Amino acid sequence: MASIDVLSSRFSTFQSMHLLDLRKQSFVDWPFRDECKCTPDKMANAGFVHCPSENEPDVACCFYCLIELEGWEPDDDPWSEHLKRSPDCGFLTNINDFTEMTVVDFCRMEKARLKIFIKKIGHKKMACLREEVDRTLQSLQSLFDTL
Ligand SMILES: [Zn+2]
Repeated sequence: MASIDVLSSRFSTFQSMHLLDLRKQSFVDWPFRDECKCTPDKMANAGFVHCPSENEPDVACCFYCLIELEGWEPDDDPWSEHLKRSPDCGFLTNINDFTEMTVVDFCRMEKARLKIFIKKIGHKKMACLREEVDRTLQSLQSLFDTL
Protein backbone atom coordinates (compact mmCIF):
# COMPACT_ATOMS: atom_id res chain seq x y z
CA MET A 1 0.00 0.00 0.00
CA ALA A 2 1.31 3.41 -0.94
CA SER A 3 2.64 5.72 1.76
CA ILE A 4 1.32 9.24 2.27
CA ASP A 5 4.33 10.63 0.37
CA VAL A 6 3.80 8.27 -2.58
CA LEU A 7 0.07 8.98 -2.62
CA SER A 8 0.72 12.74 -2.58
CA SER A 9 3.24 12.46 -5.39
CA ARG A 10 0.88 10.36 -7.50
CA PHE A 11 -2.00 12.77 -6.93
CA SER A 12 0.11 15.64 -8.28
CA THR A 13 1.59 13.82 -11.25
CA PHE A 14 -1.67 12.14 -12.22
CA GLN A 15 -3.32 15.49 -12.94
CA SER A 16 -2.24 15.14 -16.57
CA MET A 17 -3.28 11.49 -16.76
CA HIS A 18 -6.77 12.39 -17.88
CA LEU A 19 -5.12 12.01 -21.27
CA LEU A 20 -5.24 8.43 -22.53
CA ASP A 21 -1.99 8.75 -24.51
CA LEU A 22 -0.04 9.75 -21.40
CA ARG A 23 -1.44 6.77 -19.50
CA LYS A 24 -0.47 4.48 -22.40
CA GLN A 25 3.07 5.89 -22.41
CA SER A 26 3.49 4.93 -18.74
CA PHE A 27 3.24 1.24 -19.69
CA VAL A 28 6.50 1.11 -21.70
CA ASP A 29 7.96 -1.57 -19.41
CA TRP A 30 4.69 -3.37 -18.67
CA PRO A 31 5.29 -7.15 -18.65
CA PHE A 32 1.94 -8.20 -20.18
CA ARG A 33 1.76 -7.83 -23.96
CA ASP A 34 0.02 -9.63 -26.83
CA GLU A 35 -2.18 -12.61 -26.00
CA CYS A 36 -3.01 -11.05 -22.62
CA LYS A 37 -6.18 -9.39 -21.42
CA CYS A 38 -4.20 -6.75 -19.54
CA THR A 39 -2.20 -5.20 -22.37
CA PRO A 40 -0.91 -1.63 -22.01
CA ASP A 41 -3.79 -0.31 -24.15
CA LYS A 42 -6.43 -2.03 -22.06
CA MET A 43 -4.77 -0.96 -18.81
CA ALA A 44 -4.70 2.68 -19.95
CA ASN A 45 -8.28 2.50 -21.25
CA ALA A 46 -9.36 1.31 -17.80
CA GLY A 47 -7.78 4.42 -16.21
CA PHE A 48 -4.56 2.85 -14.98
CA VAL A 49 -1.07 4.33 -14.89
CA HIS A 50 1.94 2.01 -14.54
CA CYS A 51 3.73 2.78 -11.25
CA PRO A 52 6.48 0.16 -10.96
CA SER A 53 8.97 -0.06 -8.15
CA GLU A 54 12.01 -2.26 -7.75
CA ASN A 55 10.09 -4.83 -5.67
CA GLU A 56 6.72 -4.41 -7.36
CA PRO A 57 7.13 -4.24 -11.15
CA ASP A 58 3.45 -4.66 -11.99
CA VAL A 59 1.83 -2.00 -9.81
CA ALA A 60 -0.85 -0.04 -11.61
CA CYS A 61 -2.75 2.85 -10.09
CA CYS A 62 -5.96 4.55 -11.23
CA PHE A 63 -5.23 8.20 -11.96
CA TYR A 64 -8.68 9.11 -10.64
CA CYS A 65 -9.50 7.04 -7.52
CA LEU A 66 -5.82 6.26 -6.77
CA ILE A 67 -6.54 2.58 -6.15
CA GLU A 68 -3.37 0.55 -6.46
CA LEU A 69 -3.48 -2.97 -7.91
CA GLU A 70 -0.65 -5.46 -8.31
CA GLY A 71 -0.19 -9.18 -8.86
CA TRP A 72 -1.70 -9.03 -12.34
CA GLU A 73 -2.29 -12.26 -14.26
CA PRO A 74 -2.41 -12.47 -18.08
CA ASP A 75 -6.15 -13.23 -18.01
CA ASP A 76 -7.07 -10.33 -15.72
CA ASP A 77 -9.39 -7.84 -17.39
CA PRO A 78 -8.31 -4.33 -16.25
CA TRP A 79 -11.78 -2.77 -16.44
CA SER A 80 -13.37 -5.66 -14.47
CA GLU A 81 -10.61 -5.65 -11.85
CA HIS A 82 -10.90 -1.88 -11.47
CA LEU A 83 -14.69 -2.10 -11.10
CA LYS A 84 -14.44 -4.98 -8.62
CA ARG A 85 -11.95 -3.14 -6.37
CA SER A 86 -13.28 0.41 -6.75
CA PRO A 87 -16.94 0.27 -7.86
CA ASP A 88 -17.56 3.96 -7.17
CA CYS A 89 -14.59 5.27 -9.17
CA GLY A 90 -15.70 8.39 -11.01
CA PHE A 91 -13.61 7.46 -14.03
CA LEU A 92 -15.52 4.19 -14.51
CA THR A 93 -18.92 5.72 -13.90
CA ASN A 94 -18.36 8.81 -16.05
CA ILE A 95 -20.15 8.39 -19.34
CA ASN A 96 -18.60 11.49 -20.90
CA ASP A 97 -15.96 11.14 -23.57
CA PHE A 98 -12.78 12.53 -22.04
CA THR A 99 -11.71 14.01 -25.37
CA GLU A 100 -14.93 16.06 -25.44
CA MET A 101 -14.56 17.34 -21.88
CA THR A 102 -15.23 21.03 -21.23
CA VAL A 103 -13.25 23.12 -18.75
CA VAL A 104 -16.20 22.94 -16.36
CA ASP A 105 -16.29 19.11 -16.66
CA PHE A 106 -12.56 18.97 -16.03
CA CYS A 107 -12.83 21.19 -12.94
CA ARG A 108 -15.65 19.03 -11.56
CA MET A 109 -13.57 15.90 -12.06
CA GLU A 110 -10.53 17.49 -10.45
CA LYS A 111 -12.66 18.56 -7.48
CA ALA A 112 -13.93 14.99 -7.08
CA ARG A 113 -10.39 13.63 -7.49
CA LEU A 114 -9.17 16.05 -4.79
CA LYS A 115 -11.93 14.88 -2.41
CA ILE A 116 -10.84 11.26 -2.93
CA PHE A 117 -7.22 12.20 -2.25
CA ILE A 118 -8.03 14.15 0.93
CA LYS A 119 -10.19 11.27 2.17
CA LYS A 120 -7.41 8.72 1.55
CA ILE A 121 -4.80 10.89 3.26
CA GLY A 122 -7.18 11.47 6.18
CA HIS A 123 -7.70 7.72 6.63
CA LYS A 124 -3.96 7.07 6.53
CA LYS A 125 -3.24 9.82 9.07
CA MET A 126 -5.98 8.52 11.38
CA ALA A 127 -4.49 5.00 11.14
CA CYS A 128 -1.06 6.42 12.08
CA LEU A 129 -2.59 8.30 14.99
CA ARG A 130 -4.38 5.15 16.24
CA GLU A 131 -1.09 3.21 16.13
CA GLU A 132 0.65 5.98 18.06
CA VAL A 133 -2.11 6.05 20.68
CA ASP A 134 -1.93 2.24 21.03
CA ARG A 135 1.85 2.37 21.44
CA THR A 136 1.58 5.13 24.04
CA LEU A 137 -1.10 3.23 25.97
CA GLN A 138 1.03 0.08 26.00
CA SER A 139 4.03 2.05 27.10
CA LEU A 140 2.09 3.69 29.94
CA GLN A 141 0.58 0.35 30.95
CA SER A 142 4.04 -1.19 31.13
CA LEU A 143 5.23 1.74 33.18
CA PHE A 144 2.31 1.46 35.62
CA ASP A 145 2.82 -2.30 35.89
CA THR A 146 6.33 -1.72 37.19
CA LEU A 147 5.13 0.58 39.98
ZN1 LIG B 1 -10.42 4.38 -10.34
